[in-house]
Amino acid sequence: MEALNPLNITLDAAPFPIFNKANIEVSVLRLDKIHSVISGNKWFKLRYYLEDFKKSTKKALITFGGAWSNHIVATAAACNQENIPCIGIIRGEEAATLSTTLIEARNYGMHLIFITRQDFKQKKLPQNLLSDENYIIPEGGYGILGMQGAATILEFVNKNNFTHVCCAAGTGTMAAGILKATNDNQQVVVISALRNNISLLGSINSLTCTESSRLQIFHDYHFGGYAHHRPELLKFMNEFYQQTKIPSDFVYTGKMFFAIADLATLKYFPEGSKLLLIHSGGLQGNTSLEKGTLIF
Ligand SMILES: *Cc1c(COP(=O)(O)O)cnc(C)c1O
Repeated sequence: MEALNPLNITLDAAPFPIFNKANIEVSVLRLDKIHSVISGNKWFKLRYYLEDFKKSTKKALITFGGAWSNHIVATAAACNQENIPCIGIIRGEEAATLSTTLIEARNYGMHLIFITRQDFKQKKLPQNLLSDENYIIPEGGYGILGMQGAATILEFVNKNNFTHVCCAAGTGTMAAGILKATNDNQQVVVISALRNNISLLGSINSLTCTESSRLQIFHDYHFGGYAHHRPELLKFMNEFYQQTKIPSDFVYTGKMFFAIADLATLKYFPEGSKLLLIHSGGLQGNTSLEKGTLIF
């Protein structure tokens, strides 16, 4: 099986005409290169949970997610690598044909249990799993350990070289970690991949235990909502790849790159700004698009 290799991470220049025109310098931290499945930020968010589990006397690991969850398949792959028994609690009834994500998770040895959407909302575990021997990782890795793991993302770059650090957000765990790991004079720009996720700011603040004036969240680049896309987004992703040779996914990083290019056009970033964009992975999600949609 493919090994997990944080040493594969690179810092790539993003020579995109819009950035040149706005007189800003943009670099991309390629966390997508760590592993094709335990992609990007998922490994960072999981690392301290896995350490904590190994220090404990617990027997199995349980986590939650939907049928297309990067977090579910990343947890499955990481547990496979570490020989940890794991269970995935999946939102909704089992479909006649499983999603490729869930098939992959099962192939990694994850035991899948399907619960109703209502039970999922309350994170209600089946009776037989309510045991002290099980270690629970919250959905999306949201939590202090997830944030602390995400904060270590910036150890792979000389973070002081940048005026702005930009990332996409689902639960906000990664954004909270980035906020923790940056300095008072650095801005953190967060692009929400969900529609109307008004609780995102509160979720980030409750992890960092502060309200930061360095944090700016943008809610208008969701393209219809979580995992939705529009031709305009896919066209942009192709253009961005053509110019920079950097691939992106349509759920998170494509929206983030689009947003940063749009904000640059709107002169949001002062001239001379040096931006670090976190490529948080997720590329395997593109397999759900019709073949040929993307040029990479
Ligand atoms: C999960 C994921 C995110 C969101 O991370 P959060 O910590 O939940 O905000 C961003 N990008 C990619 C590619 C992801 O898979």
